[in-house]
Amino acid sequence: MLGQMMHMPLTIGSLMDHAARFHAQGEIVSVETAGGVEHSTWGQVGANAHRLASALRKLGLEDGARCGTIAWNNRRHLEIYFGVAGGGMVCHTINPRMGPEQMVYVINDAKDQVLFIDGTFVAAAAKLKPALKETKHIILMGPRDEETAEALPGILFYDELLETGDADLPWPDLDENAASSLCYTSGTTGDPKGVLYSHRSTVLHSLAGNQPDGLGISAMDTVMPVVPMFHVNAWGVPYIAAGTGCKLVLPGPNLDGKSLVKLIEDTDTTLALGVPTIWMGLLAALKETGAKIPSFKRTVVGGSALPPSMIPQFAEYGTELIHAWGMTETSPLGSINQLLQRHTKLSEEEQAAVRLGQGRAPYGVDLRIVDEAGTVLPHDGETQGELQVKGHWVIDTYFGKDTSALTMDGWFDTGDVATIDEEGFMVIRDRSKDIIKSGGEWISTVTLENIAISHPAIANAAAIAAHHAKWDERPVVVAIKSDDVTEDELLAFYEGKVESWQTPDKVIFVDELPIGSTGKVQKNKLRELYGDVLLDKD
Ligand code: ADP
Repeated sequence: MLGQMMHMPLTIGSLMDHAARFHAQGEIVSVETAGGVEHSTWGQVGANAHRLASALRKLGLEDGARCGTIAWNNRRHLEIYFGVAGGGMVCHTINPRMGPEQMVYVINDAKDQVLFIDGTFVAAAAKLKPALKETKHIILMGPRDEETAEALPGILFYDELLETGDADLPWPDLDENAASSLCYTSGTTGDPKGVLYSHRSTVLHSLAGNQPDGLGISAMDTVMPVVPMFHVNAWGVPYIAAGTGCKLVLPGPNLDGKSLVKLIEDTDTTLALGVPTIWMGLLAALKETGAKIPSFKRTVVGGSALPPSMIPQFAEYGTELIHAWGMTETSPLGSINQLLQRHTKLSEEEQAAVRLGQGRAPYGVDLRIVDEAGTVLPHDGETQGELQVKGHWVIDTYFGKDTSALTMDGWFDTGDVATIDEEGFMVIRDRSKDIIKSGGEWISTVTLENIAISHPAIANAAAIAAHHAKWDERPVVVAIKSDDVTEDELLAFYEGKVESWQTPDKVIFVDELPIGSTGKVQKNKLRELYGDVLLDKD
């Protein structure tokens, strides 16, 4: 052997220790569930994470034990992320917007031994409790509270539990391939499926996803993950934040536009991350309040397609929109849209057009498109196919399942339909279950929605496939008005923007669209409601 470098396992605990050691004074701002804003530091959060790990061990939890959380983005949740995983257990974040049946299902499927809950969820937890098979302890994320002690007999209190822990106890030695956290897909069809992340996959995702062409977070930033900590680990931001020591703002339960504007102003947030519906709310609040948010330089949008009108709207505030794509199975970062040097020669509109796509894969992820037979399709920016992905932080096998989720040649099928160009820029055309198949041709619902949303009198819209006697399926747009507009006017607005046969057959105006547990419009619900509206048409 000519020589050898140290081998240190890539662990989540090491990210926290870095933050606590080198950014001990770095600020953590947390909007508390009980109200009020709390200020702490990476140093304090790090000490509490170690206390929690040792306290959980004293409760009898062993390596790999699952600890569920039903909680908003706040300081205690951050400590749980690191204390549980750093301590060798598995942090299972539960989406509180799932129905109670699904919550019981995921808690029992994960065999959560401990359940951490925010004050908001005491009543919900009391109802779930009799159905929970393996859960030994429910822990309220706060100080002792007599009312809760009565509502849920036997409940423990986080702040008291921490006092039983030792801040100086080092993390156990862990294999970097050990499980660290668990998220379930929202399960729009069938039962939710668990995706089990490892320390190694999480650390690699944090390192490679945060390159300058990735999220590009530095110690100079003030970062607000609006994306919930129960939605794919807040897109990995808590881990990235610890690795960089940036100031972190955790927005708590109130994610309406006005609350977010105030928090951005109060904390001088430089970068926030969330789904498009969140940013629609923020833009509306900015318009209404006249606030300027000069600190707010960048926002990362993902989870569903970015409506084109959002780029110029944010540009008015000096905020750059960065479009990213991913899914629970990809940790989630699969691609992110940062321009290349040659794009700087393009006009602003041309650059905005490039930015609308979902961007390029970072180092560590590979993307390809295939046809129905699995044949690999060309990356020419035109040919559409099923998007498949491969990488260091991409799923192999769902939690508790015996068979791999991958294709024979080792790729994960995303269920999205996309194009990829010669430079690797990927554009999601649709989800394969949403795309409209009209007379053998495909029509992208995303394209039709983007056109509707760009109409000044439309606040939000979704396009769906409706059954059609002659064409199998035809497009119908379901839209929310923000001003006066008729169906004919909106249909006329499609002229020249899509081929005439792609123009929707019908517009249905509604007061609201069904939004799912991760903030996306539920097109399956709209199909149930409106899928038959064209059946008497020729
Ligand atoms: P679910 O929506 O089922 O809860 P995920 O949160 O894992 O599950 O969502 C992953 C899916 O969300 C992707 O497969 C894709 O369809 C969609 N998605 C994510 N980001 C984008 C984006 N930037 N543009 C379009 N679709 C996106």
